[in-house]
Amino acid sequence: GLGVGIVGLPNVGKSTTFNALTKAQNAEAANYPFCTIEPNKAIVPVPDKRLGALAKIVNPERIQHSTIDFVDIAGLVRGASKGEGLGNQFLSNIREVEVVLHMVRCFEDENITHVEGGIDPIRDIEIIETELMLADVQQLSKKIDRLTRMAKSDKDARGALEVAQALFHHLDDLQPASTFADRENPYFEALNKELRFLSNKTVIYGANVDEDGLLEDNMYVQALQNHAARVGADVIKLCAKIEEEMVALEEEEAAEFLQELGIEESGLEKIIRTAFEKLGLISYFTAGAKEVRAWTIERGWKAPKAASVIHNDFEKGFIKAEVIGYEDFLTCKGESGAKEAGKMRLEGKEYLVKDGDVMHFRFNV
Ligand code: GDP
Repeated sequence: GLGVGIVGLPNVGKSTTFNALTKAQNAEAANYPFCTIEPNKAIVPVPDKRLGALAKIVNPERIQHSTIDFVDIAGLVRGASKGEGLGNQFLSNIREVEVVLHMVRCFEDENITHVEGGIDPIRDIEIIETELMLADVQQLSKKIDRLTRMAKSDKDARGALEVAQALFHHLDDLQPASTFADRENPYFEALNKELRFLSNKTVIYGANVDEDGLLEDNMYVQALQNHAARVGADVIKLCAKIEEEMVALEEEEAAEFLQELGIEESGLEKIIRTAFEKLGLISYFTAGAKEVRAWTIERGWKAPKAASVIHNDFEKGFIKAEVIGYEDFLTCKGESGAKEAGKMRLEGKEYLVKDGDVMHFRFNV
């Protein structure tokens, strides 16, 4: 479940963003609601300049990035929780993901229909988020029925029922599960684990603008930023159309293109990096002659668990990890230099792996 779901009303730029993400340049982005019917999954490399820097020292045959999954979740419209549009089927796809990238239309274009009429980011957000909360209300009310029956003979069910009812009132007031006061309650955690509340996901707003909007925040972007500040979410501005063109370019061309546009970093890259962080993920590196590679782990993993993403045997037979910090690896120009300078540490089973550690595992087979 460690993926990112892209949601938003029709014609806000979800498919365009998704196409850019997957570099699927021939996929269609039609001016037509419900055009993306199948939920699409993409495995997207996480941009990381450190890999290039390591490769300059090691000269490997190849470089491998960390990746995250993006899922294109189309078909969300007003009434989706009641089965409107492509409705409930799509809501269930959101359950599977941990982070939601909510695309919001912040550009005007007479030729591109807005399903709700004019451009209004806050109204659009409310429509989508209301559907998510209503879907949660539906699920929770079924659960409350079951708990009510069980509560007659089961004390534990009575505890759960109390929390479920409080949450029901919260959601019914159109407040998202993410702001429920009693979130630390183990009963809430158990309910969330079972029902995977849609309104409990970490949200990143993607402000889709036109070219002018890239240079200067238009009023739609400003409104979105104010809203996001209130609810504590990130806003990342991008022009999906330009991102889609840019993914076809070589790295240098893309850099020039960005400079011409007057922006420092591609919005798409920012989205990927932010999503990675919000998923609670970090990378450690291995740096050998064959490949320089980033390995994806969860923040807080200890060395043996981190080793398991390379191979299960690495965890089972774990002895020690040789660790060189990324900066030390660079300063000492590689492993042997780091060893000579005393910058290589031998760490044991309790070592908490840090983002950017260059690792080499010693293990028994
Ligand atoms: P979806 O329905 O949310 O997946 O939206 P699409 O990605 O299919 O985009 C709908 C229409 O808006 C398409 O014609 C896109 O080319 C256009 N579009 C997407 N992003 C932008 C943008 O940043 N600026 C402008 N002007 N048009 C865009």
